[in-house]
Amino acid sequence: MIKEFVCISCPRGCNLKVDTETLKVEGNSCPRGEAYGKAEVTNPVRTITSTVKIKGAESPRVSVRTDKPISKQLMFKVMEELDKVELKAPCKVGDIVIKGIFGTDVNIVVTKEMKGV
Ligand code: SF4
Repeated sequence: MIKEFVCISCPRGCNLKVDTETLKVEGNSCPRGEAYGKAEVTNPVRTITSTVKIKGAESPRVSVRTDKPISKQLMFKVMEELDKVELKAPCKVGDIVIKGIFGTDVNIVVTKEMKGV
């Protein structure tokens, strides 16, 4: 079976066709597209960006993201977990909110500095 994807590895957005049996990728303009196409039919991954609650800061929420792509299958579980988190100000970019979420090597990290008030 041939599956079609748009490569999201860069803004060019190449249209990929991936043979799900042979993992042959067509339509990519560079090796990153081939890797992306193969991953989409074997173990699709995504970088998750979101926010979590924070106490004692100028804003009630602070932005976070995964420090590397995580299995797409875990996306909703990760969002549920982030909903339970409440940080305390101050925090800085790169602070780890959750280390190795769900036993993976992926950490949730802060992406915005927040000073205490
Ligand atoms: S295949 Fe390469 S050039 Fe095309 S969108 Fe993907 S990363 Fe960009």
